[in-house]
This record gives sequence, C-alpha cells and structure tokens, in this order.
Amino acid sequence: MKKYYKKFRNIACALMVGVSVVGVGNVVYADTRPGSLDNAIDALREEGLLDEAIASGAVSQEAVAREGLAGGDTSTTTNTPAEAPSDSGESASSSTTDTSSGTVTTAPPKQEKKKTEVVITESEASGKFVTTTAVDLYDTNKKSNKVSALDAGTIVSITAETSNGLFKTEDGYYVDKTKCVTVDEWEAGWQETERTDATCTDAGSVTYNNVNNTEITKTDEIPALGHSYDVTDTKEPTCTEKGSTTYTCGRCGDTYIEETDALGHQEGDWTIVKEPRLFSKGEKVIKCTVCGEVLKTETVEQTCLLPLPVVIAIGVGIVAIIAVVVLKKKKI
Ligand SMILES: [Zn+2]
Ligand SMILES: [Zn+2]
Repeated sequence: MKKYYKKFRNIACALMVGVSVVGVGNVVYADTRPGSLDNAIDALREEGLLDEAIASGAVSQEAVAREGLAGGDTSTTTNTPAEAPSDSGESASSSTTDTSSGTVTTAPPKQEKKKTEVVITESEASGKFVTTTAVDLYDTNKKSNKVSALDAGTIVSITAETSNGLFKTEDGYYVDKTKCVTVDEWEAGWQETERTDATCTDAGSVTYNNVNNTEITKTDEIPALGHSYDVTDTKEPTCTEKGSTTYTCGRCGDTYIEETDALGHQEGDWTIVKEPRLFSKGEKVIKCTVCGEVLKTETVEQTCLLPLPVVIAIGVGIVAIIAVVVLKKKKI
C-alpha cells in the first residue's frame, strides 16, 4: 500500500509540471513493443521525466513495475533522496515519514521548491552612529537598490533597524549596520599616533587614528602655552636714575624689563655750610633729603654792615684827623 501511495503522490506532483512531457509520453505510449517500452522508461528515468510520464498517463504504472521486476533501474526510490531539497519544512516532513517507512521516494516537485518570500521587518532604533568604512546607501531595505555611498567616519542618525541587518537613517535610507558603530564606540577608538608639544609661543598638535578604521585620522591643536615669567632682577629707582624689574620665563628663558621712572630729588631746608663773619660772607645750601646732593647754594652776607675797605678808610681818616689836631697843639 505504501508503495502505491508514493506513486500516487509522484503522479500528483508530476501533473503540476506541465504538458510538455505529455508529448514525450505520447510517443512512448504509441510504441507498445515490450522492449521499446522498457528502453523508453529507462530514458525517461534518466531524464528525470518518468514521474511526469506516469502522471500524464503516457506510461502505465504497471509497465514501470514490470520493467523494475525485469531488472530495471530502481533509482526511482534510491536516487530521489539525494535530489530532494530540504529547504522547506513541508518536504522535510514528508521525507521523514518516508524514511521511517524504510523506502524513501521522490522529492517534491519543483513548484514546491519555490523560495519563500523573505519578509523584512523594521524595529525602532535610535542613536547616532558612525560609519567605520565606506558604505552603500540604499533607498529601500533591499540591498540591490544602491543610490549613493557614505564615506567612512560619517555620522548618521538612525531611526530603525531591519531584520536583514540594515539601519534606517533619519533621511529614510538604509545602510549596512555591521559597518557602523555607536558614536561612543567611535570616540573611544581614537588612539594617539603623533604628538608635537606646544611651546611658549608655538601651538602643538596631537594626531590620532581610529581603531575602527586606522585610515581615519584627526589632529587636535594644543594651544601655545604662553610664557611663565618670574621676577629675576630688580633695580630700585634713585633720584636721578630709572629703576627696572627683569622678568624671565622659566620655560624658555625669554626676558623683558620693565622700567620705573627716577624718583627726583627731595629738597630739604636751607642749611648754612659756612658761617658769615664780620667782614666775610658765609654760604648756605639746600640738599636732597634722599641723596644729599646740593641742589641750591647761596651766600650769606658778612655781619658788618660796612665793607672792610670803608672801615679801614674810616679808621685811617680818624687817625689822620687825630694827627692833625695833635700837631696843631704842639705848634701853639
Ligand atoms: Zn617662555
Ligand atoms: Zn636726591
């Protein structure tokens, strides 16, 4: 019974293939010579058309059975498992049943091998991602519909991901999610490759590449440090000379000097440095109270109101007068 059931199933499957086989079957059917019929069955079997011929009625099941008993090929039951695909649950189930019975039979017809339509679903996702390499941009979730490409290192905002491994961008395009990492992962991937230290006056730089794609590099500038001055010398100003403060950079040795104005003299009071006498002048000065420099000098008049020659003249005159008077008295 099982054998007939399998044949019946094969017939049913073969009916779905088409009528082209019928023509072949008709030819076989017309040739009813016993030897020729066996050859035809063999030929059909080799071409894989035997089942269809049986299904169309071109070859009777009895004839096939006879041919088999006469030493014909039994590949109908032995070859088909290797040809039977296992890509559909239905055929796998059918094959299992047959195997349990110990006699595996024909595979499902090709119509049943038709690929199952893949249903692509989208689930919500969000976040900013970075492309780790150049990626194609699709305008649908089918990878054949490339419309453009993104450079490596491009930031994309993602709104969804598909069941076939794509990210949907906020612009409605699709990219391969395996070529994207999160922004955080991207930022964590920077590794320093070169550094130029900044100096007091020149900016430095640090160059990085990204572990996610070492071809991608970036360079950050390090601002110039600016000088770091300390006071290394001071010179106080005097009455007449400028003062100065010297600053020196502890890093590069650069120096500059700030000057302060001279203070100027501070005048003190008049001071007599030479006392005047009866007939000689004295001297007085004003000195700077800071540095002692004589700023002004003046003479101080003698204490006698009359100059010495006048006094002498007066004295001589008096003596002369006295002499004249004395001489006149002696003559008398
Ligand atoms: Zn410096
Ligand atoms: Zn002074």
